[in-house]
Amino acid sequence: MRFAAIPNALVDLVYPPRCSGCGRFGTFFCAPCHSTCTPAVGAGRCKHCSAEWEGSDNCPRCFNMQAVDSVVAAFEMHGPARRAVHRLKYGRVRAAALPMSAHLQQALDGAAFDYAVAVPLHPSRQRSRGFNQAAALLAPLHYTPLPGNLRRVVKTAQQVGSSMRERRRNIADAFAYQGPTLDGATILLVDDVVTTGATVEACARVLKDHGARHVYVAAFARASYKPGSDAPIED
Ligand SMILES: [Zn+2]
Ligand SMILES: [Zn+2]
Repeated sequence: MRFAAIPNALVDLVYPPRCSGCGRFGTFFCAPCHSTCTPAVGAGRCKHCSAEWEGSDNCPRCFNMQAVDSVVAAFEMHGPARRAVHRLKYGRVRAAALPMSAHLQQALDGAAFDYAVAVPLHPSRQRSRGFNQAAALLAPLHYTPLPGNLRRVVKTAQQVGSSMRERRRNIADAFAYQGPTLDGATILLVDDVVTTGATVEACARVLKDHGARHVYVAAFARASYKPGSDAPIED
């Protein structure tokens, strides 16, 4: 299924737009703030995972993503784009998802998928936040939902202070799928931010275990941690 246009007039009606960078009213990113955002598409990015990378092949971060076919993202996770993510997720400004979703739509560039699904939150996390920020980003894109249920069955501890290896191990078994087989399906998996890729990799592995052929990831922001270093915490 293809995209439906996001009704901007409706967005403005329910949420007077305010710049995520500087806070001025009028638009979600004002022109000066938008110019400081780094697009996560095009030159200087890894073709596979969209992280900062000048080489022509895959970057070293890609080795952490085997089940994920590729990652696209609208922006690098810094400046106004980072503040937009925090506004949505920690500020619980749910309406910010609509303009953010429009940027995600641009990054996806008209790609078609059999099904789409958001990275699920654990039910207790979703209750405390009030909504799933990834699902809020996905909903305006009007893709066909997954025929079954992708669930987060393990509540991963707050990951601050744990090593990347530990975090990866904790998340690996955190997801489960219940529903009809996904035989040969091409699936879009959406999250707000991709950092190490451990979360989307764990989801993609479960989807492929249930028959999915391709799992492509789209995120609003890509956090390009330095290869070989401990990634910043963005979960
Ligand atoms: Zn601004
Ligand atoms: Zn890469």
